[in-house]
Amino acid sequence: MSEASATTPLLEQYEGVKARYPGHLVLFRVGDFYETFGDDARLLSRELDVVLTARAPDTHGERTPMAGVPHHAVEVYLGRLVRRGYKVALCDQVEDARQAKGLVRREVTRIVTPGTVVEDRILGGPDHSFLACVVLPGSGRGGYSLVDVSTGEWIRGEADDPGVEGVVGAIAPYQPREVLWAGAAEVARGLASVLASEFPLARIEPAPTPASDAELPEAVRPAATVPASVREADLRLAGYLRATQPRLLPHLLPVDVADGGRRLLLDAKTLRHLEITRPMNPDEARGTTLRDAWDETVTAVGRRTLALWLANPLVELTAIASRLDAVEALVGRGASLETLREALRPVPDLARIASRVAGRRVRPDELVALRRGLTAVEGTRIELDRAPTPGSLAPLRIGLVPPGELVQLLASALPEEIAPGAEATELFRAGHAPDLDGFRAVEAEALAALSALERTEQEATGLKGLRLGYNQVFGYYFEIGRAQAARVPARFRRRQTVAQAERFVTDELEALERRVADARGQARASADARWEELLVAVDRQVGALHRLARAVGALDVLVTFAHLAQTRGYVRPTVDASPSIVIRDGRHPVLDRTLGERFVPNDVDLDAEGERLLVLTGPNMSGKSTYMRQVGLLVVLAQAGSFVPAKFARIGRVTRLFTRMGFTDEIGRGKSSFMVEMTEVAEILRAADPGSLVLLDEVGRGTSTFDGLAIAWASLRHLHDVARCRSVVATHYHQLTELVGGLRSARNGHLAVDERTGGVVFLHRLVAGATDRSYGIHVARLAGLPEPVLREAERLLRELEAGGVGLGAPRPLPRSGRRTPRYTQAVLVPSGGHERDPLVEELLRLPLDTISSEELRAKVEALRRRGEPAPEARP
Ligand code: ADP
Ligand code: MG
Repeated sequence: MSEASATTPLLEQYEGVKARYPGHLVLFRVGDFYETFGDDARLLSRELDVVLTARAPDTHGERTPMAGVPHHAVEVYLGRLVRRGYKVALCDQVEDARQAKGLVRREVTRIVTPGTVVEDRILGGPDHSFLACVVLPGSGRGGYSLVDVSTGEWIRGEADDPGVEGVVGAIAPYQPREVLWAGAAEVARGLASVLASEFPLARIEPAPTPASDAELPEAVRPAATVPASVREADLRLAGYLRATQPRLLPHLLPVDVADGGRRLLLDAKTLRHLEITRPMNPDEARGTTLRDAWDETVTAVGRRTLALWLANPLVELTAIASRLDAVEALVGRGASLETLREALRPVPDLARIASRVAGRRVRPDELVALRRGLTAVEGTRIELDRAPTPGSLAPLRIGLVPPGELVQLLASALPEEIAPGAEATELFRAGHAPDLDGFRAVEAEALAALSALERTEQEATGLKGLRLGYNQVFGYYFEIGRAQAARVPARFRRRQTVAQAERFVTDELEALERRVADARGQARASADARWEELLVAVDRQVGALHRLARAVGALDVLVTFAHLAQTRGYVRPTVDASPSIVIRDGRHPVLDRTLGERFVPNDVDLDAEGERLLVLTGPNMSGKSTYMRQVGLLVVLAQAGSFVPAKFARIGRVTRLFTRMGFTDEIGRGKSSFMVEMTEVAEILRAADPGSLVLLDEVGRGTSTFDGLAIAWASLRHLHDVARCRSVVATHYHQLTELVGGLRSARNGHLAVDERTGGVVFLHRLVAGATDRSYGIHVARLAGLPEPVLREAERLLRELEAGGVGLGAPRPLPRSGRRTPRYTQAVLVPSGGHERDPLVEELLRLPLDTISSEELRAKVEALRRRGEPAPEARP
């Protein structure tokens, strides 16, 4: 009876394992498959699209659902499972099924989680695969640690902002695949739910208890000065790794993403809205993010480094200048830059091969690739040395030296090529392992003797039809046709009878067979020992390989920046401590790629000490959002060390960049859109300072007209007067353009429209001054609204513009400054001076974090009533 039909005991064993691994999907090895049963089988069938079957009915006639995947393809399936956020326990057979008495012993041999894998086929691509741990105290700022075990990088820090949003924002640039969290009771629930909505594809779970200090690898042990929350995050992360990837723990090295300084803070929403490394809409095809537009890297580690640099632009001027110097020097190589790129191209994913060595999950052909890769690194360095390298490239150049011992060891141990499925005994170059060579020689000799024996026995017995054969069950035998079988000598012992023949063995045959088997066994044992020996030797170099990979990654990105500059005509930006941002003929880095010639370049002039606020109005589709994102993206690029698409760019460094574009993606969090907008504006108003760049799109969109207008007005005043940051604001409230007249350092702009031909042509060119037309009807016509509707709308518009009544026009707000004849609706405009309007004061004091949306609404309505003009003031 096969084990698989012994329903109950097998299922009991399975249930036992499941009970010991709660929260895990248990894949249970039965024969050639990894199986799941019951609800897990249904889940597996759904998630992996594998067939759901049922086991034979048990004694109660019940049929348990069952679904499995073939063991040889398990990595592919594991990849899909962990990318969907599952945590899998692989339960293997740990004794030979043939030797087992009763049920085969099974144990969990591996825990596979989204953030702790090193295998290529599970990782599913070269991008980073971060595991994060966040720790949030009841008040103040949280700490975080992140690790990518597949590349050996450990990143830690304290959040720049307090609370849940602060700590979640701090890890947002890394897009972790798995997040462990720990928080004081009062913040825990909020933390878990914000993590889940910020990282919908990640696995989120409470962090395990912290490991002890001594368990942290020496290299990553935090300095005594790190904040307690950061230390706790480190230790909890280590606790998790101890359980999942203990072999890799000692190989992790700290990385400083900010190059010794601060990084330009991009919170989670800004990263999303600017689409730096992932599209705002995850369903979107590739090619929409800044990273995609910039990724002409030639190595896997280069691609990862690019993502890290773009999501973490620098702030320290010397660090930025150093990258830009390096890029400039590389651009200066002219045509030979391509040779350098080609030299880098064959470098394999050194970091991941190293991690797979450490995790003992490496394939022999990957070590051959490693050897070739190290040679390619040497080649790259030699190519680099063909031109003078500026000081900024010196540390990289030094980093490009592969560990010499390792190069030699691999060269002497491994042949030029290893077929992917090669036997362990065929892995080594002759002479590398003399004992192995010896056993293989004995084996070959014995095999030769075996085939010689066929001839000898044919002659000795006179039986021409005698053949040497082999099968798995009986081993070697002589086969003789039925008719001749009676003539065999007595030393032939019968083994097996088949259809037309008899099979025999002799003492001599058995002795030779034993010699072959022994030699093979010894060869295999020796090969395995040599393989492990080789891995131990390579293992000692894992840290060196990780460092080498980082140098390769950094060089690849700098070479890529230079390559882009050469091929796309980008210019070196000046990044300095000035308060201004001046860009001439700037282009949107991503749209420019898709639109090419059709893209209309624009200028940027912002100055924290001069004109710092630009209010953009203008019709839909005129290019407001594009312009604003362009400003943000060019700053990001410049501070990441890239040349930029512009004729000229001078960036007074930005320390914090906020963008809020529309408010569509937040509705899912269950807040009203008004509340969402208020929360976002509150975050910005609290944190923005003169080093910040604030880009607000569609201010006031989530509200009815007057609430939105009032808040938008107050917010702009605050940005201008108090935060004194550089800001670009787009709005459909034309009334806001009136405000600008009263602010000393603000300016109106719009994107030009050509109406000469009767229709509307968007020129996408930024020009000074406000527009007073929304072109809504034109856009509606483009969108295909029926002609009668459009004509009716045009009629109503004319009536409105002529001061029409009876349309239920909104109630007017007080005016305290100039009049404008353009609007039928009264406008809220500032008093002109810089003293605060008491209404504004109250608006700014609203506790937006804690107030409910109903309360807020009531409050704003009350304020509005207070501001209501006396009847005679109505126009
Ligand atoms: P708005 O925010 O004013 O509604 P968008 O910025 O969304 O407008 O731009 C609408 C479309 O106009 C974009 O998708 C793009 O195709 C085009 N566009 C915007 N800016 C430019 C430009 N500078 N040059 C060429 N086309 C542009
Ligand atoms: Mg827009």
